[in-house]
Amino acid sequence: MKLNYVYGPVPSRRLGQSLGVDPIPLKTCNWNCVYCQLGRSVPLTNERREYFDRQDILAEVGTALAARKPGEIDWVTFVGSGEPTLHIGLGWLIQETKMLTDLPVAVITNGALFYLPEVRKEVAAADAVLPTLDAGNERLYRKINRPHPDITFERLLAGLIAFRREYRGKLWVEVMLVRGLNDTEEALREIANILDRVQPDEIHVNLPTRPPVETWVQPPDKEGLLRAQAILGDVARLVHPASGTFDLSRYETVVDAVIGIITRHPMREDELVRTLEHWLPDEVSATLSELENSNRAQVVERYGTRFWSAASSHYPDEAQSQRTAPKT
Ligand code: SF4
Repeated sequence: MKLNYVYGPVPSRRLGQSLGVDPIPLKTCNWNCVYCQLGRSVPLTNERREYFDRQDILAEVGTALAARKPGEIDWVTFVGSGEPTLHIGLGWLIQETKMLTDLPVAVITNGALFYLPEVRKEVAAADAVLPTLDAGNERLYRKINRPHPDITFERLLAGLIAFRREYRGKLWVEVMLVRGLNDTEEALREIANILDRVQPDEIHVNLPTRPPVETWVQPPDKEGLLRAQAILGDVARLVHPASGTFDLSRYETVVDAVIGIITRHPMREDELVRTLEHWLPDEVSATLSELENSNRAQVVERYGTRFWSAASSHYPDEAQSQRTAPKT
């Protein structure tokens, strides 16, 4: 089955086996996070529009759902290769998906557009919404998330607080920890103060384990993580990342499986090879060599490890990345 917008199911931290729906072209976002696994945001845009035809996306959701047995999927999740709320038909897609299935629907978003009442209304149709909050002040927000100029920190906060007031579903806020930026006691206390105002149902602490766009990004050390657990855990129930296995068995060829998954989830080489166990090892290694040599996929090195990523993702080299490193 050739899929353009739907992928997985993929194992998700809180969403079990999650069927991903990706309504945005790689990599269209209104943030340009230093830890983004999908490369730099090109273009950085805050424009909402019909990036892909909503009917085409919905038709694929229907086909993918029909191909699965009961119990194979736990959630349908709007997420993907950019910021999903930039698709102007997201609200319609959520509503229509809920007409197709009784499965719960989630939206993974940066939450940056929640300052717009219409976006809050659209997203509120989902059963769970997972926005991001990595910083408790404007300066750190600009350093970590590097937002489009229209999305000030004030707007981000006002949007999150307004959404919580209106939304009856599950609000799980994700915090990505970056060593030296938001894992200090001061930074964590500022984030905790804001989360206290937002009142999420849960806080999900994430670490940059996939290839961060900037070479200098590191996950927190053990003390940083413990500090985050202690400080953020005072505000709401804390949930930690968990891993599982990706199901690529519905793809017809190794090429489709690799491209389908690494476009949204760049993977460590060993993890990717393990995930492709459905095919013969010789076929997998020949296909990976061919993809790398023909530039249909790219291998990016971070943390001394090879990660497979989409050919069109923009990763800076060491020198370019160092120019963006925070001055210590
Ligand atoms: S991590 Fe998400 S919000 Fe940040 S730049 Fe990447 S796609 Fe956008």
